[in-house]
Formats: sequence, C-alpha cells, structure tokens
Amino acid sequence: MLYLFDSRKKEKVEFIPVKEGEVSFYSCGPTVYDRVHIGNLRAFIFSDLLYRWLKNGCGYSVQWVMNITDVDDKTIQKSCFSGMCKDSSNLSRLSSLSSFTKGYSDLFFKDLAKVSIVKSSFFSLPKATDYIEEMKTLIQNILDNDFAYISDGSVYFDVLRYSEYAKKNGFEYGQLGHVDFDKMEETKRVSTDSFDTRSDFDFVLWKAKKEGEPFWSFDIVDKKNGESVCLYGRPGWHIECSAMEKALFNTFPFDIHSGGVDLCFPHHEDEIAQSRAGYGKDPARYWVHNEHLMIDGKKMSKSLGNFYTLEDLEKKGFSPEVVRFFLVINNYGKKINLSDESLSGAGKMLERLRKNIKKIIDFSGYPSVDLCEKSKKKFEKAMNDNLNSPIAIAEFFGFIKKMSKVSSLELAVESDYIETNKKKFDEYILFVESVFGVKL
Ligand code: AMP
Ligand code: ZN
Repeated sequence: MLYLFDSRKKEKVEFIPVKEGEVSFYSCGPTVYDRVHIGNLRAFIFSDLLYRWLKNGCGYSVQWVMNITDVDDKTIQKSCFSGMCKDSSNLSRLSSLSSFTKGYSDLFFKDLAKVSIVKSSFFSLPKATDYIEEMKTLIQNILDNDFAYISDGSVYFDVLRYSEYAKKNGFEYGQLGHVDFDKMEETKRVSTDSFDTRSDFDFVLWKAKKEGEPFWSFDIVDKKNGESVCLYGRPGWHIECSAMEKALFNTFPFDIHSGGVDLCFPHHEDEIAQSRAGYGKDPARYWVHNEHLMIDGKKMSKSLGNFYTLEDLEKKGFSPEVVRFFLVINNYGKKINLSDESLSGAGKMLERLRKNIKKIIDFSGYPSVDLCEKSKKKFEKAMNDNLNSPIAIAEFFGFIKKMSKVSSLELAVESDYIETNKKKFDEYILFVESVFGVKL
C-alpha cells in the first residue's frame, strides 16, 4: 500500500488509482527560455522517482505526461525582441519563437538524459503551442459558464465569482494554497500574467498581444451580449496545463499531479479553478509537491541569481549521477541545501556502496535469500511511506555494509545454494538501481 502526502488534504493518504493497475500522472514541465538549474531538476527528479516507484516498486502501468511551456512572456521576450525575427510578420515571429524554444527544449532533454530521466518513460511530452485549439475551447467553456470576462482584448478568470460558487458547492478557492490574499501582488506570475483585471485575484486566460509579439487569433463568443469577437494574443500560463491534461488522459480526473511547492499557488490552484469552471470537474485526485532546493539558506532561483546548472556542477567535478543520487536519497518533502559538502557526501556514499557490493560479489559469499528479502521489505515499506527515500537508502546501505563484512564466512555453503542466493541478491541490487536510477 502506497501512502502519499496530498497537498490538498494536507495529510498522508492511501493512494488508490482510478483504474486498477494503471496510473495517470501529470508533472508540470519547464518553461524553455533558458537552461534549467539544479532546483528545477529537483522537481523533475522527484517526479521521476515517483514514476519509478509507481512502476517498479508498486507494479503499476504508468502514463506519465510532462508539458513543455513554449509560449509565455519570457520565451516571447527572448525570441522576438532579440533580433531573431527575419521580418516583422507574425509568421516570422511565430517561427522564431518555435526555433528558440526548440533549442532550449533540446538542451533540457540532454540534461534530463544525464540524470537518467529518459524520454521513453513518458507517455507524452506535449508542447503548449500544439494545444492552442484545446485551450481556446476551454476558455470558451469558462466564459459560457460565466466564470470569465473579456476586457481590452484579453480574457480573465473571475476569481470572486468562482469563489462564491465554490463555497456554495462545498469547496474553496485557495485549497492548495496557504494563500495570503493580501500579498497576492507579490506573486510574480500573477502580476506578469494579469493586468487590467476587475479584482486583484483575477488571472489571465487569454492575453492580448502587445506590439511586436507573435499571436494566434481566437474567435470567441460572448454569450452575455451574443457578440463574436476575434482576439489576437496567446494563452495564459495556467490554461496550458488544464487543456493538455484533459486532452491527453482518458480518465478525468486523472490520478496524480506533481510539481514544486512554489506551483501550489497560483498555478495549481488556478488549474483546479479552470478545470472546475470549464469542464465541471476537478483535474487531479492527488496533488504532490517537492520542497525547494536551497543554497546558503535561500531558494535556488533564477531571479536571485544563486543557481547552478548541471554543467556548472560538472565543471566543479560533480558528475550528474552524483547530483541525482544526492537528490533522490533526500526526502522530497523537505528543504535541502546544496553545497560542495552535501554533494561530496552523496558521492562518497555512492562510492562506498559500490565498493561493498563489489566485495560481496568478489567473495561470492552472497547473503541468504531470507536476509535479502527481509531487507527488501524494509526498503519497500519506507518507499511506500510517502517515498521516504532516506530511510530506504539507510536500510540498503546498512544491509550492504553488514553483508560485505560477513559474506566471506558463508563460503562453505553448497554451490547451487550460492546460485539461488546470488540470483536474489542481484535482483535486489537491480531493483534498487531501477528505483533510484543510479548504477550500483
Ligand atoms: P519553472 O520552469 O520555473 O516553471 O520551474 C520548473 C519546476 O522547477 C517547477 O516544478 C518548480 O516548482 C521547480 N522549482 C523551481 N525552483 C526550484 C527549487 N529551488 N527547488 C525545487 N524545485 C524548484
Ligand atoms: Zn503546469
């Protein structure tokens, strides 16, 4: 039985998928305007660990979807206002946006491959710009249901109206939050993605183009006055995920949604609101969030400039596999500090593990099937407890260390007995490798 900490219920709950044996799983992906940093990678590696545990630990068949945000303020700014466009036509602007984001998307997948996240794990890797039509349909639905309004060429979500509706129906806006509504302007995404709104809380669903920006056209009907208008612009950030989730999963609500804690509000809260307002359904059944990677006590972020990319760490002598190992053996729900010491510590632990495994193999003195099974059970118990990887790795590390010391004493056993023990031991090692994504 797997238990996960659900950010909405704010407690550990038993995970039961909608369809027996199958899990639908969505993770918010990167905005491809720059290289990802190790903080971003913590979020993707956590999602990969969860994917691997669901698949290799629990035996589910998993449909994992991760979106690529290839249109937003930053991608537009960097692609169209930096001399990349051949001419001033919309086609040329769209094409430079597309080639610019493709470049960073390719680099992103290279970084993922280095930390053992392979493309073949994904059921789909949708790009936002491939789902513009689905986004328009959802926005039209939200407007038809009277949870949106058009203003100066943009469409906004009416949060106050939605909040009232939510209250009447036994839920609330802000359920993922810990939201202090008085401080909302401080949330960057909200302020960049919303302007000219009726209330401070409203967020943009469709953003009117500004001079020089690439755009899509959107024929939208305003039921209130029966008018059809053509809006030139692009989708807001939150609507991208809502539309792609609905388009890609057969089951809706799907099972698990993941992301970093900073996405709880407004991004995931607004995904829930859009989905309820437009499809009449909650999007996801379980919400899981990884805590931040810190550096000198502060969140690693582009805006603070306190970040390292994978390449930066490689130059400092830390291999991608050590970075991954460091991230997976720490509890995803706790803040962790990145430092040369913390990375070296993880590297040393990995080295010691490998040495001790080699010692066991070289002596051919494999632990008994019973001992392997007992340790594996403890490992599984820890992982089933909300992916408690520090406890799981401590069990595995302790087991290997102990066996590397006693194994030579067991040489006296008969050879076919050794074969059975060897098989079980090899299986256990392969199992741990398949869960942590690190070669042992
Ligand atoms: P972004 O491209 O900014 O939307 O971020 C991609 C993912 O990285 C999101 O899930 C963020 O929550 C996550 N993220 C960003 N910074 C950090 C950090 N310092 N630690 C952990 N996750 C982070
Ligand atoms: Zn998202």
